[in-house]
Amino acid sequence: CGIVGYVGPQAPSNRPLDVVLEGLSRLEYRGYDSAGVALAGKDGMHVAKRAGRLDNLRQELADHSAPPATTAIGHTRWATHGGPTDNNAHPHVSFDGRVAVVHNGIIENYRELAEELADRGVSVTSQTDTEIAAHHLALLLEDGADLLDAMCTLARRLEGSFTLVALDGQNPEAIVAARRNSPLVVGLGDGENFLGSDVAAFVGQTRRALELGQDRIVKVSSNNVDVVDFEGQPQEGHPFEVDWDV
Ligand code: GLU
Repeated sequence: CGIVGYVGPQAPSNRPLDVVLEGLSRLEYRGYDSAGVALAGKDGMHVAKRAGRLDNLRQELADHSAPPATTAIGHTRWATHGGPTDNNAHPHVSFDGRVAVVHNGIIENYRELAEELADRGVSVTSQTDTEIAAHHLALLLEDGADLLDAMCTLARRLEGSFTLVALDGQNPEAIVAARRNSPLVVGLGDGENFLGSDVAAFVGQTRRALELGQDRIVKVSSNNVDVVDFEGQPQEGHPFEVDWDV
């Protein structure tokens, strides 16, 4: 339902979490049944997710405090596959703990993709159509791809509509996102960058934004934004100014 992403300077801080929680609360107007975040930095990845209101997630983060990070992704879920439980909430984490994903939309062929995972000895632990994406990305990384290549390969396999954002806990200096028939906008900061399912996700931070075309993948780091198509060929984003009142 709602997605926020943040990549900042290499010095770990609480800012990634603060930015993502602020973005999620600005996206609350869309409605949701669960919320979660994944944070990464040089000390690894931390995931917190809870069914119910954002305050439940804030309480979870207060009970198990998140370490300083450089990168974060967050999600408010409106369940389509699997009930609104803590376990079905996003982010979903791969079997090896390396990849976290959040997803808006529906992956139509998730059963087929889950069968392929079973053939490789990986079982799915939630009822969502999303979890398979984390495992497939992790297997591609294990086979030697980087996260951008892995996302291109996976996006070509996915049927349905999706905004899919992934974080590789071993390379927390970037996040990678793919979109098809589902919105995704990049927010351009100064030494930091943002992602959102709509500009409300980051309008409290920057007014400069980048629109992506259809069937695009974007790699966002603190100083760089690279846009490619599902084949990995470079593409242009379209810059614009957000002229909303906050
Ligand atoms: N289909 C996914 C799920 O049910 C994502 C739903 C959403 O867009 O929030 O978990």
